[in-house]
Amino acid sequence: MKSLPPDAALLAGVEAGGTKWRCLVGAGPGQILADTLIPTTTPEQTLAQLRDFLDAAQQQWGPLAAIGVASFGPVDLHPRSQRYGFITNTPKPGWAFTDVAGFLRRHFGTPVGFDTDVNGAALGEWRWGAARGLDTFVYLTVGTGIGGGGIVGGRLMHGLIHPEMGHMRVARDPARDPFPGICPFHHDCLEGLASGPALAARWGRDPRDLPPDHPAWALEADYLAQALHTLICILSPQRIILGGGVMQQTQLYPMIRERVRASLAGYLEHPALDQMDRFITAPELGARSGALGALILAERALRGANP
Ligand code: ADP
Ligand code: ZN
Repeated sequence: MKSLPPDAALLAGVEAGGTKWRCLVGAGPGQILADTLIPTTTPEQTLAQLRDFLDAAQQQWGPLAAIGVASFGPVDLHPRSQRYGFITNTPKPGWAFTDVAGFLRRHFGTPVGFDTDVNGAALGEWRWGAARGLDTFVYLTVGTGIGGGGIVGGRLMHGLIHPEMGHMRVARDPARDPFPGICPFHHDCLEGLASGPALAARWGRDPRDLPPDHPAWALEADYLAQALHTLICILSPQRIILGGGVMQQTQLYPMIRERVRASLAGYLEHPALDQMDRFITAPELGARSGALGALILAERALRGANP
């Protein structure tokens, strides 16, 4: 039977996504005792399934020391807020104002670390993946939604609420792309134009079924490159990690790199920008960055470092 080293605390890391939740029990990438996927249905069902999975894990391996959650948002990250640990005003039907951290704290009685899905993924990549050794980088996910987070000067990006990089404006040429965008708030913001559901709505089929040479991908790369240009100019990141379901279309990486290089037009000079394949890169932890990063949120909560 699998087990942890005697000195390791038993942690749970949950990446709460818009289509599925991933939950790991263990202490790090080489120390995973259990790993499951739970579909995102209603808050009641999804949270009950998570609770049952973690109850069963405790039966098998003993008490959890802490739980970390990296969640789709918007979320409330302010420790003194009445809604700390909630998913707040999401347009996702049924999910607005769901108390995720409180539900887990009440049931399990452990510290619960809580942050955005992308900050979780950034933490995972920072310790174990593509961002090791950096102090300023962005993790952008292109999936059901588009979100970005990461580290600036060695600290997770928080701020007034938290970054909402998916809702930045990008330029749309209506002659080339008459699709008006699907963001219920802004229509043709980045997420409204380039998320998985936006691709599905624009092209009338699941983006998985669009062939690699379909014009959808050139347009997608254009929008993502515009967003990356903006992020590079504002944050001066040492690297940008692009994850999420849509980035499983790996032909997008070289297309985005080429467009970012052209868009920056030689203005920014740094050797890192001459190595575009390292500068704009895939997550090294694959689909597990968020859940592994959530283990770090749990560890931080245990140390009292989070919230
Ligand atoms: P979540 O947003 O729940 O965290 P993902 O990051 O996997 O989950 O994103 C899911 C979105 O990515 C869906 O809109 C789906 O259509 C899209 N997607 C998943 N796999 C692919 C693929 N291979 N090619 C293009 N789009 C994909
Ligand atoms: Zn928007």
